[in-house]
Amino acid sequence: MKYYSTNNHKHQVGLSEAVIKGLAPDNGLYMPERIPVLPNDLIEKMSEMSFREIGYAVIGALFSEDLTEKQIHELVDHTLSFDAPIVEVEEDLYSLELFHGPTLAFKDVGARFCSKLMSMLVEDKSKTLRVLVATSGDTGSAVANGFLGVEGVEVIILFPKGKVSKLQEKQFTTLGQNITALEVEGVFDDCQTLVKQAFLDRELNEKLMLTSANSINIARWIPQSLYYFYAFSRLPKTSKKVAFAVPSGNFGNIGAGILAQQMGLPIAQFVAATNVNKVVPEYLHGFPFKAKPSIPTVSNSMDVGNPSNFPRLLALYGGDEKRFRENVKGYFYTDEQTVEAIQAIQPKGYTLDPHGAVGYLGLKDFMAENPGYVGVFLETAHPGKFRDVVEEALGEKLILPERLAAFLEGEKKVIPMGKSFEEFKGYLEGLV
Ligand SMILES: *Cc1c(COP(=O)(O)O)cnc(C)c1O
Repeated sequence: MKYYSTNNHKHQVGLSEAVIKGLAPDNGLYMPERIPVLPNDLIEKMSEMSFREIGYAVIGALFSEDLTEKQIHELVDHTLSFDAPIVEVEEDLYSLELFHGPTLAFKDVGARFCSKLMSMLVEDKSKTLRVLVATSGDTGSAVANGFLGVEGVEVIILFPKGKVSKLQEKQFTTLGQNITALEVEGVFDDCQTLVKQAFLDRELNEKLMLTSANSINIARWIPQSLYYFYAFSRLPKTSKKVAFAVPSGNFGNIGAGILAQQMGLPIAQFVAATNVNKVVPEYLHGFPFKAKPSIPTVSNSMDVGNPSNFPRLLALYGGDEKRFRENVKGYFYTDEQTVEAIQAIQPKGYTLDPHGAVGYLGLKDFMAENPGYVGVFLETAHPGKFRDVVEEALGEKLILPERLAAFLEGEKKVIPMGKSFEEFKGYLEGLV
């Protein structure tokens, strides 16, 4: 399979280059040159297949030219080491729980796939591969934990000082080993800009083997389509149309759902739900796309003013904006609405995290306007990861899962960093 750049369809590379480079040299995102369509009978049979068996089929369709069957099984087994159940919250409305992995957020899936695939693809084992990651929270913890202890790979995480929840911070600042955290004086977009500049700096790239593990990397992006297939296969058989609502920030997760749809999964409708960082919902309502500075919210993993996967979404529709706006409906919510949703659902016996709450709200509004759907919203993190917000909303203490509580005992170690590229470059050059 070849992968093309969203900035230039003629620039095409193989899997290895697309994964190790992360971003195309012209700043575009890589996309598979062809989207394989799975036979209908295979998709129907998925209700009797395990999560991993579904994984072998989907990943096989995309990667079998580049990887052996054994590698595909190894990759899928490593990635899907935990379940992603659907839970009925209301009639015809389900939560897809993506928080049963090691760091209790959906990014574990992409990060685990990415680390395993990178270690398979790095041919020169004598060189250190340096993974640069900008994070507004969950990416950092998922990538750090996915790569922890992987030989020949060092992970450098850039996060905005004071803008990440304490618990999230602990998950990537306490690990040590091959994981280093840089605390940047700025917002998430500053971190993302520093990383992008580093990849475009010729001098740096001659000295260091740099790569990204942000959701722009196809190795992070593609495997997220697996849980759409799995969730769909576990829904009760129905003649109703199915909608998926995705709480979105950089729009990688929803893009992977659209990829699953284009591979033949009969999802009828997507709902893109955001907090007040609403550039995509505005676009979906017919306005031109316009990036804006990010605004801090209680769903801070979605505080993104310039969603990096937007060009990928456009590419999925071949630039057909009308089809894009029909297939994806956009909604956005304030912090007050988010907190109210957490409070309103609790009595039904379900605890939402602030991100899942935004997805739930989007789904409810869509289903109210469009009767006759079965809806699934993605619960992208465990509520305990955002305990400050959730405990305040509910006025009660949450019981933290053990693996989350364990992080709190580690000691935070960071390197302070300004937001100028010179300073960041100097730091990287010092590593050689
Ligand atoms: C990253 C993240 C999101 C947003 O996902 P995108 O793929 O960037 O749109 C939503 N919820 C949580 C908990 C996250 O960590």
